[in-house]
Amino acid sequence: MLRVAVYDSKQYDREFLVQAIGTKNISLDFYEYHLNKDTKESAKGYDAVCIFVNDQIDAECLESFSRYGIRLVALRCAGFNNVDIESAHKFNIAVTRVPAYSPHAVAEHAVGLLLTLNRKIHRSYNRVREMNFSLKGLVGFDVAGKTVGIVGTGEIGKVFAKILKGFDAKVIAYDIEPSYDWARNLGITYSETIEELFKQSDIISLHIPLLPSTLYLINEKTIAKMKPNVMLINTSRGKIIDTNALIEGLKNGHIGGVALDTYEEEEGVFFEDLSDKILMDDELARLLTFQNVLITAHQAFLTREALQEISRVTVDNLLRFEQKISFLSGTEL
Ligand code: NAD
Repeated sequence: MLRVAVYDSKQYDREFLVQAIGTKNISLDFYEYHLNKDTKESAKGYDAVCIFVNDQIDAECLESFSRYGIRLVALRCAGFNNVDIESAHKFNIAVTRVPAYSPHAVAEHAVGLLLTLNRKIHRSYNRVREMNFSLKGLVGFDVAGKTVGIVGTGEIGKVFAKILKGFDAKVIAYDIEPSYDWARNLGITYSETIEELFKQSDIISLHIPLLPSTLYLINEKTIAKMKPNVMLINTSRGKIIDTNALIEGLKNGHIGGVALDTYEEEEGVFFEDLSDKILMDDELARLLTFQNVLITAHQAFLTREALQEISRVTVDNLLRFEQKISFLSGTEL
């Protein structure tokens, strides 16, 4: 029996993981808190830990895990920037993830953010509930004919691009590994440089992983290269945007609107109910004051289909790992 501790687990994780496990030979214990160097001792006695986007597995955690006999870190997400992969390798701990559970879930949420922000639906929803039926300040623009720049044309970026083509937008893209055939078939052109994409785009949507090369890709200098009044959408990872530069761009009016599903300091805030607490993050508090900023709390992945697929692949990863252990130790499978 593979013993697995599941961290940062919500009701929906339990529901879908338990369903996916069925009668398989895996036991799961669910913990609501994050796994990090302060909580690592709670993983003692398990064979594997199962984590999500805001658990932080650094070298210190991995060194402890190797002493505890933990041999696997199973991520329930695509991004793995929160695990020190080099140290995992050093301590002979396997890391698995769910590379593409539903690109549609994230891409559709990004489109939802774009339309809500542009047509100010978040504002009209509140107004109408207050019996204020005025349209003052609610003018948006047609997405048709606008240039939409997609940074990162992997699984999610490609779905986003296809949807935007359906809006009759002019879609351009930048990727360090362009998919030229796909782009040609869909009538999308790649910009030679990311600066060129910044210069041309009315709307920019980010679909890249957080890597040393993409950390603060959106900063004071790159924002200055964007079109005045640009709309920025980030459903990838918070640290791709320098929040202070973003706030400055909003204050001086260079940025026309921002929709974020991820935020650089989201850990401990997103996914939590802080409605009876004081928000200690001054930058997030400032962002929330702009009428042209729309924030969701890392919810782009949250569809039934995505949760089912995350659970199915995670259980599959655990099973394959368990079978490998059994094989190595000579146990009959
Ligand atoms: P993917 O690996 O399929 O695609 C990423 C693309 O980015 C690749 O084509 C890669 O070549 C490109 N890329 C890498 N570095 C780049 C750079 N410096 N400049 C331009 N392009 C670069 O990943 P995906 O499945 O499309 O997911 C994209 C990101 O979305 C993930 O890394 C994850 O951080 C984020 N994500 C967020 C949510 C959410 O709920 N908000 C859910 C899933 C994924």
